[in-house]
This record gives sequence, C-alpha cells and structure tokens, in this order.
Amino acid sequence: MDKIYLDNAATTPLSPEVIDAMVETMKMTFGNPSSTHSFGQEAKILIENVRRQIADYLHVSPAEIIFTSCGTESNNMIIKSSVEHLGVERIISSPLEHKCVSESILDMKNRKGVEVTYIRPNEKGDIDLHKLEELLKNSDKKTLVSLMHANNEIGNLTDIKKIAELCKKYQALFHSDTVQTMAHMNLDFSEISIDFASCSAHKFHGPKGIGFAFLRKSSGLKGIITGGPQERSLRAGTENVCGIAGLGKALELSIKNMNAYTQHMQEIKQYAIDRVSEEIPGVKFNGRSSEKENSLYTVMSVLLPYKNPLIGLQLDMKGIAVSQGSACSSGASKPSMVMMMVLSEDEMEHCTPLRVSFSHLTTKEEIDTFVQALKEISHDLIIENTNVEHR
Ligand code: PLP
Repeated sequence: MDKIYLDNAATTPLSPEVIDAMVETMKMTFGNPSSTHSFGQEAKILIENVRRQIADYLHVSPAEIIFTSCGTESNNMIIKSSVEHLGVERIISSPLEHKCVSESILDMKNRKGVEVTYIRPNEKGDIDLHKLEELLKNSDKKTLVSLMHANNEIGNLTDIKKIAELCKKYQALFHSDTVQTMAHMNLDFSEISIDFASCSAHKFHGPKGIGFAFLRKSSGLKGIITGGPQERSLRAGTENVCGIAGLGKALELSIKNMNAYTQHMQEIKQYAIDRVSEEIPGVKFNGRSSEKENSLYTVMSVLLPYKNPLIGLQLDMKGIAVSQGSACSSGASKPSMVMMMVLSEDEMEHCTPLRVSFSHLTTKEEIDTFVQALKEISHDLIIENTNVEHR
C-alpha cells in the first residue's frame, strides 16, 4: 500500500537537496564555530552565510536573526524575555495561539504577575482589530501583543501589517508566531514594523531541531539560555551547524520555487475543497479555510457532519495521514481550544473536525484516494447510525 502524507502543517518531508547539504556539512564542516582555527572558521562562515540569506529574505539585518532549536524555543524566548528583560507588564493575545505561545504567556502571568487579555475571535476565527485598538488605547502599561500570522489548525491568516501599525501607534511591542508562514510567503519586515517573529525549518522541508527568532535590533531583547557567547550571547550553546545548513538549503529552495509551489498548493487545496464538498454531503470548512485570500494554502480544515473520534485512525489504517483537530467531548481526548472558539456547542457534540495539509509534493491523485477513503468511512458510519436508530 502506497502511503499518503497529508499532514504537512505538522511537519514536512526533507527535500533530497537538504539531506545532501546536511550530510556534506556533517562530513566536511564539523569544526566548532567558536574555535579560532580554520575548521571552526569554516563552520562559522557557513552559519553567517545562512544568517545573511535569512536576513535578505526578510529584508532585515543579519544581526536580527538568532538561531534556536525550533519554533517553540523562539516563541518561549521572545515572550519570557520580553517580560523578564524588557519590563512588559501586560500581554494581549488570543485563544487561537499555539501552545508554545499560550503556555509561555500563562507562565508569565503565574510567575511574574503579568496582566493578560485575550481577544476572543468570532466564529470564523477572526480577531477584531478595533477591539485590539481599544485595548491598546486604554492602558499605559508596557504591552506586548502576541498574535500568530497563520493558524496551524484552521489556516486563518492575520493581517500582521495592520497589527504592527496599531502596535507602533500605541508604543506596544508586537510578536507574531510566523512558524506556518515563514518560507511559504514573501515576508518583508522592512515594510512591517514587527518586533519579534519565529521560524521552524521542519515546516518547509528542512530538518527538525533548528529554527530562528527574528528580534528587532532596537528591542534590546536578551536570551534566556545562558552560558556561552554564541549568537551574540542571546542563545548560548554550540550551534547546530548541519541543521543550519539544512535550514539554509530548504529556505533557498522555498524562495526559488515560491511562485510555483504557491500556485500548485492553491490548486490542490481548491481541488480538495471541491472533491470533499461533492462527496461528503453536509461537510463544512472551519474558520476561513475554504477562502483563497484569508487562508493559508497549505491548510484545509474540514468539519464532518457526524461524530467519529476514530477517523484519524481509520484513515491511517488505509495509509492516509491527516491530523484530527479534536472537538471530542467524550473525555478520551480534550477538545482543542481553536475548535472550541470556532465551533458551536452543537457542532462540538455532533461533528468531527479534520485537518488536511498539503505540500508541493501533494498530487490530485492523492486527494482522490483520500476523498474515496473518507467517503467509504462516512458511508459506513451513516449505515451504522441508521442501524442504531432502527434497533
Ligand atoms: N507555532 C506554530 C503555529 C506551529 O504550528 C508549531 C508547530 O506545530 C510551532 C509553533 C512549534 O514549532 P516547533 O515544532 O519547531 O517547536
């Protein structure tokens, strides 16, 4: 059985070119970048070249890029250091954030007494920017706004340019979790007055265990991992040189192919929306997932018109990997906060959310196989339900 991978928002397969670049680095560039001899300096040069490449992509200065181990670390660092080192007293965020953001914020609330305000999204998953402005206007406390660029469960895109303008107007700092959009979209931080952003290489066919944080130079943020001069003492620890080489190669490929990849995935997503709509009567799409403009082209969040907590497992048994954004109220698995925000109580009770996420490798044939499998499972379920009703 040929397996089908439709969980690219969780992670993506490594590109062969990325693997080659990493193997080459492991073989040839093993020096410690802090060493002054030529072995160390070769590794240092490799790191600085990738840093320059990232800076060019974002239109920022290389000194504003700090390598970390992942998106989670970058987000933790930004939020915790903003409070501990920049005197942030208040954080404005939303319940849609990834756990690495929401739990960092909660930690700062519990340990440091930071005031936290969450903007509740509407049923489409939109954050009301008028509400944000009201909140910014009404306090003199030093504020950090933390709102993600693209939601990893429903794919909604946030207008980070507008949010950055509002934050600037009211002298608040602005952090956006850009893990799902980095290397998927053109991002020009010379045009967007954002202070902090995060990236994870494994979301764009790079390796796991490497990412970076963008820290605006003027912000004065400090690191939370200490004990060495690496990354200008902002993130101590010997650098993951082969990971950085892999990130660099993955970013290079993403930039080179961005137009083609975007077009391909937009087509694939629309095809998937059309096919699922045709074959599964009563299906809905969560948040802005079925819209072209306001949704990330990698993510399709489906709401199936029946309750089936085992659907992820059943698809897996048919060789298809998707992610089950759980709205289960059985207690077997906790409902996701995002689903709680965008679904009604009735939908939570009677429906099943499913996240299908694409890459440039996804084909229409794979979508057909997925839709056929989904149809078979849905059909079985309808029969079962009918049997129950007649018993
Ligand atoms: N933020 C978002 C929006 C994500 O989707 C993820 C990964 O799922 C992360 C942060 C965490 O990134 P990492 O896996 O690199 O720690």
